[in-house]
Parts: sequence; structure tokens; C-alpha cells
Amino acid sequence: MPCPICEKDSDQTYRPFCSKRCADLDLGRWMTGSYRVETEEPPEDQVAPEDPQEWKH
Ligand SMILES: [Zn+2]
Repeated sequence: MPCPICEKDSDQTYRPFCSKRCADLDLGRWMTGSYRVETEEPPEDQVAPEDPQEWKH
């Protein structure tokens, strides 16, 4: 199974990655990606208030 980051052969220690560097890169990319999705979709526009009275005050 090749490293999903650089497509080199994976290392037994860090598989499916080839090295700790690629494992860290993938983790960072995943966190950055989820962060970006959250900021692109403001929760205020998506979530309706459960209690209208609470919403007014
Ligand atoms: Zn790699």
C-alpha cells in the first residue's frame, strides 16, 4: 500500500504512510480541511432556533 501523501512505499511503523513526516502532513491536512468547511458554512444560517422565544431575547 503506497503512502497516500507522496505515494512512496509505506513504512511498517508509520503505515499507511512512508514516514512520520507524511503522517503528520496528513493529520494537518485533515484538520485544516475540516476547519475550512466549518468556516465556509456559518451555523447560524443552517441551524433553526429550537425555541423562538429564546431566539428573540
Ligand atoms: Zn510519504
